[in-house]
Amino acid sequence: MRYYDNVIELIGDTPLIRLRRVTEGISATVLAKVEYFNPGGSVKDRIALRMVEDAEAAGLLRPGGTIVEPTSGNTGVGLALVAQMRGYRCVFVCPDKVSEDKQNVLRAYGAEVVVCPTAVAPEDPRSYYNVSDRLTREIPGAWKPNQYANPANPRSHYETTGPEVWEQTGGKITHFVAGVGTGGTISGTGRYLREASGGAVRIIGADPEGSVYSGGTGRPYLVEGVGEDFWPETYDRGICDEIIKVSDKASFELTRRLAREEGLLVGGSCGMAVAAALEVARRAKPEDVVVVLLPDGGRGYLSKIFNDGWMARYGFMATSDTEPTVADAL
Ligand code: PMP
Repeated sequence: MRYYDNVIELIGDTPLIRLRRVTEGISATVLAKVEYFNPGGSVKDRIALRMVEDAEAAGLLRPGGTIVEPTSGNTGVGLALVAQMRGYRCVFVCPDKVSEDKQNVLRAYGAEVVVCPTAVAPEDPRSYYNVSDRLTREIPGAWKPNQYANPANPRSHYETTGPEVWEQTGGKITHFVAGVGTGGTISGTGRYLREASGGAVRIIGADPEGSVYSGGTGRPYLVEGVGEDFWPETYDRGICDEIIKVSDKASFELTRRLAREEGLLVGGSCGMAVAAALEVARRAKPEDVVVVLLPDGGRGYLSKIFNDGWMARYGFMATSDTEPTVADAL
């Protein structure tokens, strides 16, 4: 018999897949590290596991305890998976702008979801930051991972993602490109690759236009999971050799091309990272190896990025760009 004891054993060891068509005209090799192969469907499974293990070791999380985190997305799914296996309860706090589908994914994994009003100031007691703090104080045995300040976040990438990429490329990697949200991925993976290569690998961050990492003020953008309006502790400000700014439009166009041309149905921050990686690869030497990390899958974005009407409404696509369909001819 050949089987895994539980889904947690499937976290990490994700594949590298060469991009073949969006790279037309580029001679450097561009390899995507595809994180939707994790059991919870995103890169965040890695940090969920390490943050929980650390909290257990430090005695912050004990049998029967409750994990409380303000999250609506991938981190929640990762935490919910790990919590199930270890017998913890999960309470996730999210703002009401988060789609019902996303809330329901968390509930499907057995988590409880507390929804807070978006239209209140962060210092308002009803804001989701404050509600999560209050629940952490009031629920006995509660622990808040706080992915924006937890050192286990970047460390999980230093210990897993970095060594995987180094080993999978046989040390031939020359450039590493990733989007920056909490900064955990780029800081941990980047530090490992820099050390392993003796400083030879260039570390490039990809950031939405408007976010602080690329000099913005935190003005709104639509790509999800990346960019910030503050500087999280989990981001190492010395890690990036370069930060490339990418527009929502360019991010979403590439996200759609990845699905249609590479068979990779991935999220919007993946299109953003690939847009930056292609810019890097265009300037690179033919023998260079550019690795770009793709954080999650595209199923959660079907009614947005993959919906022509939504794309047209935001001006990311002209309505005339819609290709004639077989149904039109009937
Ligand atoms: N893309 C998506 C979809 C994410 O959820 C995240 C995490 N916020 C990121 C990219 C960025 O990863 P990190 O937090 O490690 O910087």
